[in-house]
Amino acid sequence: MKVQFALVGNPNSGKTSTFNQLTGAKQTVGNWPGVTVERKSGKYKKDKHIVIQDLPGIYSLSPYTPEEVISRNYLQEAAIDTVLNIVDGTNLERNLYLTLQLLEMGLPLVVAINMSDLLKKKGIQLNTDKLSYGLGVPVVKISALKQQGIDKMINAAKQSAKQHSDVVRYDSRLESALSEIGRVLPTELSEEKRRWLAIKLFEKDTLIAEMLQLSDTQKKEVAETIAIAEMIFKESSDAILVNERYAFIEGLLSLAVIREADQRLSISDKIDHVLTHRVLALPLFAFFMWLIYYLSIQTVGTLGTDWVNDVLFGSWIPDILDRAMQQWHVAQWLQAMIQDGIVAGVGAVLGFLPQIFVLFFCLAILEDCGYMARIAFVMDRLFRKFGLSGKSFIPMLIATGCGVPGVMASRTIENQKDRRLTVMVTTFMPCSAKLPIIALISGAFFPGRTWVAPSAYFIGMGAIILSGIVLKKTALFAGDPAPFIMELPAYHMPQLTSVLKSACDRGIAFVKKAGTIIFVACIVIWFASSYDFTLTRVAEEQSILAFAGRAAAPLFAPLGWGTWRGTVATITGLVAKENVIGTFGILYGQTGAVSESGNEIWQLLRNDYTAVAAYSFLIFNLLCAPCFAAIGAIHREMGDSKWTWLAIGYQCGLAYCASFIVYQLGHVIFEGGHLTIVTCIAFLVLCLMIFALVKKPSRKMQGPIQVIGG
Ligand code: GDP
Repeated sequence: MKVQFALVGNPNSGKTSTFNQLTGAKQTVGNWPGVTVERKSGKYKKDKHIVIQDLPGIYSLSPYTPEEVISRNYLQEAAIDTVLNIVDGTNLERNLYLTLQLLEMGLPLVVAINMSDLLKKKGIQLNTDKLSYGLGVPVVKISALKQQGIDKMINAAKQSAKQHSDVVRYDSRLESALSEIGRVLPTELSEEKRRWLAIKLFEKDTLIAEMLQLSDTQKKEVAETIAIAEMIFKESSDAILVNERYAFIEGLLSLAVIREADQRLSISDKIDHVLTHRVLALPLFAFFMWLIYYLSIQTVGTLGTDWVNDVLFGSWIPDILDRAMQQWHVAQWLQAMIQDGIVAGVGAVLGFLPQIFVLFFCLAILEDCGYMARIAFVMDRLFRKFGLSGKSFIPMLIATGCGVPGVMASRTIENQKDRRLTVMVTTFMPCSAKLPIIALISGAFFPGRTWVAPSAYFIGMGAIILSGIVLKKTALFAGDPAPFIMELPAYHMPQLTSVLKSACDRGIAFVKKAGTIIFVACIVIWFASSYDFTLTRVAEEQSILAFAGRAAAPLFAPLGWGTWRGTVATITGLVAKENVIGTFGILYGQTGAVSESGNEIWQLLRNDYTAVAAYSFLIFNLLCAPCFAAIGAIHREMGDSKWTWLAIGYQCGLAYCASFIVYQLGHVIFEGGHLTIVTCIAFLVLCLMIFALVKKPSRKMQGPIQVIGG
């Protein structure tokens, strides 16, 4: 007994490929009667009783194209046992539109989801059971290309043969309109057929209306029903049906299809429950930052730094240069400048390259996987309590690389007061140039204390938050924070290439700076530390630099590190923060040490400063005015000298007070220092700062606000 299957599907759904798979080479090809549309049929190669009819590729069963008319006439009239609806699985929404129209006809149907081999690649998970349940017909996955699922499809088709599919039901108001129209139609027709014709009449399908030869009264009744539905839905009748079909498909797909992007989001949501948790978020962030600093400054990065300091700049480069210069009989002063100035200074700075690389590698991982965006969100919650916006966190995040782009990033803050406040505090974050100072101090004075290096990061952030709290209470910055809306990207595995690129970019920028501005600065510092005002070569203690340093040193004496070397290092740091280390490299490299390698410098530093004094030095250099380049950026963003000076003054003032308090109190508490009047002053300053933090803003500040310079 012959069985007839018809292949129906959208163009490009893989119908021809499926047909070829089913029939092999033996096909008959001709035209449909009266039109030049190709007509193909063939026998199933594994069972000659099954005849496959390939219908033209169509998007719908409306009467607008010859292909559509042929297909629907054929489906209505021919004795088809089962319709095989080939559906492109990667384009379900559009393809299922035709499926719904086939179901409206009530035909025996099997839905074959083709291109199933592509689903996985496109991150689409399809539940055929749910799809089958929703459509009320068998659904099988096939791949015409990979020859998968074809037999299963044929078996399903055999089982479904002649079994009319369930009718898809739409909105009840539409359904009642359809049954109204159905009542007008000849009663001898089957229920499914009447419903299908009702749908076609509702869509104002002219071919069907002509075919049915309705009387004027019938036509009038149909028109009235349609008019009422259009009034209820406030849309034309054909649009009502299109919308209903797509709404049905949407509901179905939301049930049966999971896109990996959505799923990733739900995994992201789960991770976010922990990482952005109200209580856990900040401790977790603190832990991650500690880990990053621990890895880069205390462990992994240190291995590289030790090698650069001890081997590369400790012996290899000085030895090679020494031999070359001896051979070429280079003048003594030039030899001294190259070895004691450039190699010692630039070398001391470049020694920190491995640590910088590891730090930025780790930070890039946190950024690339989407974590830092969450931190901005968490910070918004925190900042908002103090009247700041999370928007201010983005510039700060960027400033961990370099203060200049960090300051520039504040442009995204629309509110002028918040923008100025952000510009003023952003450079408190430890940038890559400050990292060598952190590494040097923590290595030389706090070996094994893993909290010291990351504490610099939190001092920077703390200074920002506390400044925000205090400054927001002043007339200059008062006001509500700008709203902060950001889209959180889904978490994903960090891309090694982009992470490496980010770390390399930072590293290259650092080396470039060492080769240019630091190089020149080292020559100047060496010169000033080797000559006196009569330009005679003298011992370091009698040099121009020692003279100038001694003149300014008393200013820093209350901070515990008021030696001329510490003073000079801090001041040269204004040109570029790397100079702090370059200066130490030159000055402590010349005082009779055997080599300039890290450990000798560490010992010499320990002779000059106590641990608390060194920490106070670190705090001052972290918080005081940034390098000239960043000051330039601050000036550009503030657009006004008054504001720039205010920012520099605030930064230096805060740095001085913080270092003063830390040294004076720390010296007494941890180093057995005597209580003096200066200690009391430090305590008083601390109390004043706490008062400024906790006091309520005065009423006057909340009223109309005067802004200077703008
Ligand atoms: P038709 O327009 O519906 O007859 O579609 P075709 O059979 O011509 O197929 C359209 C395109 O889809 C062709 O490039 C086929 O190679 C490709 N194709 C068909 N079936 C599959 C399949 O299961 N997997 C993949 N990856 N490609 C397919």
